Order: sequence, then C-alpha cells, then structure tokens
Amino acid sequence: MRLVILGGGESGVGTAILGKKKGYEVFVSDFGKIKNNYKEVLSLHKIKFEDEKHTEELILNADVVMKSPGIPDKAPIIKKLIEKNVPILSEIEFTNQFTDAITIGITGSNGKTTTTMMTYHLLKQGGLNVGLAGNIGKSYAWQVAEGKYDTYVLELSSFQLDGVETYKPHIAIITNISPDHLDRYEYKFENYIASKFRITMNQTEEDYLIYDADDEAITNWLQNNTTRAKLIPFSISKPLDFGAFLEDNNINFNTTNEPFVMPTNQLSLEGKHNVKNAMAAATVAQLLKIRKETIRESLSDFQGVEHRLEKVLKIQNVQYINDSKATNVNATFFALDSMTTPTVWIVGGVDKGNDYTELMPLVNEKVKAIICLGIDNAKIIDAFADVVDVLIESSNMADAVRQANRIAEKGDTVLLSPACASFDLFENYEDRGRQFKHAVQNL
Ligand code: ADP
Repeated sequence: MRLVILGGGESGVGTAILGKKKGYEVFVSDFGKIKNNYKEVLSLHKIKFEDEKHTEELILNADVVMKSPGIPDKAPIIKKLIEKNVPILSEIEFTNQFTDAITIGITGSNGKTTTTMMTYHLLKQGGLNVGLAGNIGKSYAWQVAEGKYDTYVLELSSFQLDGVETYKPHIAIITNISPDHLDRYEYKFENYIASKFRITMNQTEEDYLIYDADDEAITNWLQNNTTRAKLIPFSISKPLDFGAFLEDNNINFNTTNEPFVMPTNQLSLEGKHNVKNAMAAATVAQLLKIRKETIRESLSDFQGVEHRLEKVLKIQNVQYINDSKATNVNATFFALDSMTTPTVWIVGGVDKGNDYTELMPLVNEKVKAIICLGIDNAKIIDAFADVVDVLIESSNMADAVRQANRIAEKGDTVLLSPACASFDLFENYEDRGRQFKHAVQNL
C-alpha cells in the first residue's frame, strides 16, 4: 500500500513514521519547506520525501493520502486526488486504526488548550499512563508508533474534525461554540457548529459527551439532533440533577456515585471560564475513576497555560496580564469578566468580523482606558470612543505597554486581551504575547 503524506510538519512526519512501521510504502510531499530536524528524522527512518514542490505522478498513484489539517480542500492537488477517488484521511483518522487506547477528544471555540492541559494534568496526577496530542505538542501518530500510552487526551480543532470519518473519542468535550473561523465554513455559523459536533457522530452508548449546558449553540443542536453518547452537562448558571454545576461559589461534581464539592476559590486559575474548564476536566477524571482528593489537589495546583490570562509581573502594585491567545470577542469577554480592579485594556489586531456589543457592560464597569494596538483600529474606536475616558492608538507593543504604564495607577490591572488575530503587527499570538512580556519586563 502506498501512503502519501501531504505536509511535512509534526503530524505529517509522525504519520510517516507510523505508516512505515505498519508496512506502508511512504512518501512525504510538502509544497513549502520541511524543517531540517524533520528531514533528518525522515532520512533516519528511510522515508522518501520532497519539499518546495508537489510531484503529481508520485502523489496521484497513492492508495491512501494523509493530509495536514492546514491544507484546504480547494488546493489543486487535493482536487485532483478527489477526482481520482483516492481516500484522504486526517492524522487522527489514520492513526486510530492502529491503537485501542482510550481517547478523550476536546473541542470548542475557546478553552480547548486549557481544558486539554488541565485534563491531562488531572489524569497524570491520578496515575494513568496518559499522553497529550492533537493540536498540542508531539504528534498523535508518532506517539502511537512509539506505543507509549494507553490513554490520550486529544485537542481537536474543527479542521481536524472535518477530516474524521470513523474516529470516536470515548469521552468527548465540547467546551463552547461561538462564531470563529467562519471563512472556512462558507460564513455559515451552522456549518461551523456541525463541524464541532462531528466529535460525537461515531460515539455509541458506551461513550460520553460532556458539554456546556449554558451555551445556546450547543443546547439547540442537541435539541434538534441526536447522539448515541451519554450526555453529561455542566453549568455555571443553574443547578443540575446530574453533571457539574455551581451553587454559592461551590462547584458540585455530581456525575458519578462519588460526588464531591469544591469551592471555586480553591481553583488555581481565576475567571468563570476556568470554572467551566475545571468542570469539564474533572468530569473526565471522575469517569476514569480518579480519586476525588486527587482531582481537588490537581485543580488547585494546575499551573495554567502561557498566553491565557497569564500573570506576568506586578510593578508598583499594577498587575500585568498576558491574554494574547484571546483572538475572538468571546475569549476577551471572559478575560474582562474576571478583572477585579480598574483595567487598562490593550486590544486590537486583525478584525474577524467582531461584534463588540456583548462587551459593552463590562467595559463600562471595569475599563478605565483603552489602548488600540493594530494597523486598523477604526472599528474599536467606533465601538468604544464614547464609553471610556481615555482611548489611545499605538502601533507597536513597546509603546502600547509604556502608555499603559503611564495611565495605570496603584491597584490597577493592565490586560492584553486583543479579541483579534495578530497577523497585522506580529507573527502569531505567541509572538504578540512574548513581545508584551518583554515590554513589561523592560519597564
Ligand atoms: P483554544 O485552544 O480553544 O483557543 P485556549 O485554552 O487556548 O483555547 O484559550 C483561548 C482564549 O480563550 C484565552 O484567552 C483564554 O483565556 C480564553 N478561554 C479559555 N477557556 C475559555 C472558555 N471556557 N470560554 C471562553 N474563553 C475561554
């Protein structure tokens, strides 16, 4: 069997190694440049590859193709493969046939990485032999090839789910759904919602779907569609007979016959969104029979993830917070919601069709000054000029942080939570977050 892999990044190289191990004749082709360390790995495994081109004769005679999630279906080479009826699988789909590990699949518009890392931390502390993969870290295929783990926590983007045909997680989480990446879904929110729910389409009665019962997009879908999985809701707004819910600042974990309660102030991470993430992660741990004492302890000492409401420094009693990963309005909503002192808010970047209406009450209540950090700030100025006393434009991070430092007074917070993509002034959100931290450290 000839396996052709399109894309020589982490998932492509991992799949190549697994394919080779399973007896496929493997060829990797990348239209861009393959990193040298990956080239070395491929050579070491005697896997043929090419980069900066796609040689059609070598690709089109594949029996099966694995495509990286980044390559759109519209790419000419993909169209030709579809015309020839060559099956095109995603990494998850290809890998899944070679493992009987238990998998926990986590998707949603916001909170995937945080919930994935938290779940992984809980299961690891609980003594399971667990791996971490999907959108995060080392490729799933690569780890399955190495046969290291019997449980995996997988972060699954909607792009990855679009490439799924038969894969099913034993436990699925949908953290929340708000409009994002609509350009990939014909600008239809319902298409994007449907893509997220592919996570449950192959689940059976033995499997679980954990979901946010406060999220309308999710609950509407569940009312109008079916899944065979057992449903486990969580909510921060209403008590539930079954599932995790909040009552008087106590989280009730009420999913198994070992229910327990934990005050929210014992969680290591702040913010309502992190209460939700903790509910989802701890529910998984309960289902996998981790002791409640361990769950409690692990939720109290979880370190959080870089660029997500990350506390950077306190300077002259002003707290600086890096939330560069907030690339949409919903993520920024929860960041502003969790602010407890007057806030100087650094916002802006590439607009994704943002509607700022839902932020208005929070900005009114908490934000004393706005610093717009983007090439085109018109929409933000339009939305907030009349709401805050101070609104300044800035065109680089060092300047934005200096301005924030000038405005902030003892006891205030300076929050970078852009609600926008980063590509106008930065390489990506990590670059933006690092530049913020660097500028703060230079104050
Ligand atoms: P994802 O992997 O889905 O992008 P992250 O965990 O990286 O999610 O968080 C992205 C942004 O969303 C961060 O700004 C973070 O503070 C915020 N966030 C985290 N969890 C949630 C949630 N449950 N709901 C809304 N926003 C969240």
